[in-house]
Amino acid sequence: MENLYSLTAHALKELMKKDGLNPSKISEDVFGRIEAVDGRVKAIVRVNKSKFSNTKSSGKLSGIPILIKDNICVKDEETTCASKILEGFRPPYDATVVKKLEEAGAVLIGKANMDEFAFGSSCETSCYGPTKNPWDLGRIPGGSSGGSAAAVAADETILALGSDTGGSIRQPAALCGVVGLKPTYGRVSRYGLIAFASSLDQIGPITKDVEDAALLLGVIAGHDEMDSTSVDIPVPDYTKSLVKDVKGMRVGVPKEYFIKGIDKEVDEAVKKAIGLLKSLGAKVAEISLPHTEYAVSAYYIVGPAEASSNLARFDGVQYGLRADRPEDMIDMYVKTRSKGFGDEAKRRILLGTYCLSTGYYDAYYLKAQKIRTRIKEDFESAFKACDCIITPTTPSPAFKIGEKTNDPLSMYLSDIFTIPANLAGIPAISIPCGFSKDGLPIGLQILAKPFDEETIFRAAYTFEQSTEYHKRKPEL
Ligand code: GLN
Repeated sequence: MENLYSLTAHALKELMKKDGLNPSKISEDVFGRIEAVDGRVKAIVRVNKSKFSNTKSSGKLSGIPILIKDNICVKDEETTCASKILEGFRPPYDATVVKKLEEAGAVLIGKANMDEFAFGSSCETSCYGPTKNPWDLGRIPGGSSGGSAAAVAADETILALGSDTGGSIRQPAALCGVVGLKPTYGRVSRYGLIAFASSLDQIGPITKDVEDAALLLGVIAGHDEMDSTSVDIPVPDYTKSLVKDVKGMRVGVPKEYFIKGIDKEVDEAVKKAIGLLKSLGAKVAEISLPHTEYAVSAYYIVGPAEASSNLARFDGVQYGLRADRPEDMIDMYVKTRSKGFGDEAKRRILLGTYCLSTGYYDAYYLKAQKIRTRIKEDFESAFKACDCIITPTTPSPAFKIGEKTNDPLSMYLSDIFTIPANLAGIPAISIPCGFSKDGLPIGLQILAKPFDEETIFRAAYTFEQSTEYHKRKPEL
């Protein structure tokens, strides 16, 4: 028999139902796998063998192991955002998604590594050190949900949760060859997600296939009175969208996403994928999203501005670290923050504070918000003529560890194709669509209208079921 750890949640559910598989066997198998490979991959920062030992047998995810990104609060369990400043912080409450997982019977196996406070595209800014890409341990897994994506790819967990502010679910999913979905802004409660940029952040699934993503989204989605930005509309049964059929589906391909500088193998793989969907009956047409070129600039104003404000609460008073023997209150703030935050967090705080200061607010922040509106309007008009939009997820496959650490600008550009969906609030998925000559995964991004995750699932499922990329596993 295959190892249990290498299976999907839906396959394990079948085994439990039909063959009476004991759910505790699954966790045991997964913990064994973690012990065997995590010393090399370093995807997990804390393993938890005790949480949720009494799993409900009737839940939708009963007995299924899940790994949680370390910026999502789990009651009484250390939650650090991979930052020294939150060392020892144990939240007094569960995030809403964690509560929902618990109600569904999922087994919370631990916390995943990430870029500090989710600032990054490579998982290198973590205070625990970098996570490695399971396909090539000398390369980055992507970020900021790099631990979640690497763990799913390495079969160290069955499911994982990530968060996505500018691409942090989709980009690592693409680089690790797994499925990652950023839901529509407002689809999933952010209560208990330690905020990076509140108008952009969404929690979403990272899984081995599209069916698992649909299953997991169905569990975590829905209105929550603790998060006023979560929208009160019914949650569909997403598994009903798993239909292998795209006949007549109108697919838009934005010309601005096939730019100079995009890696040749990525370009080819994505074009081949679009060709396949066409041969399956999709109606493919070129479209234009004219303000795409301003997305990264606008994001690096709005994101840091909100982050600088959200991070102001970490000052040594209520959470985590407090500097020793400060002279007075201000000295405590300065010493705690200087010691607790890493370089990238400091860079974001400086950028954000600058953009929001008197005299610069209109020139930067307000302008960025105007661009954001334009980007949203680009999508609105595009979706009048198409049901979904297809693009590469990233401009290149995984880069080498250390390759971009001294060049923040080139690091920021790795999210050039994922950021627009966050600015517009629309849902987007990344699914595997090929491999480079060096054996590195390549991701395909599918975007749809707000709250139309169903179209995304249908297109993604059809592509996945017509290809074999999702079945390939890294050798570890
Ligand atoms: N890589 C982007 C950034 O550094 C996006 C991060 C994210 O989505 N959390 O901000």
